[in-house]
Amino acid sequence: MEFACALDGSRAGAVALRETDGVLRLEVDSPWGRLTFPQFNLVTVLGALRRRSVAALYALDRELAPFWCPTCSAVYCGVHWESWDVWDEGFFDQTRGRCPKGHERMLLD
Ligand SMILES: [Zn+2]
Ligand SMILES: [Zn+2]
Repeated sequence: MEFACALDGSRAGAVALRETDGVLRLEVDSPWGRLTFPQFNLVTVLGALRRRSVAALYALDRELAPFWCPTCSAVYCGVHWESWDVWDEGFFDQTRGRCPKGHERMLLD
């Protein structure tokens, strides 16, 4: 399932269930790369996808919907998110972002 930017309609990311070697995984594509989740609640995820609810995905795990701004209730693409990495004493800590309306959130960690 693909999600489009609220401002320009371009592809912001995608969430898909994929079976590899008999193991079902949840894949999340975002402007910050692809994340694979081997463990998730299938029933809850399917419910969110069936309703096309990015808010429900975000509620499950913020990293399932890194392109989503919960304050705006909107999806934005990589062009519209301003993002930066946060390092803690030389180690990658998290990627944070700011939506076009100035709301800041953790995107990935
Ligand atoms: Zn926002
Ligand atoms: Zn955009």
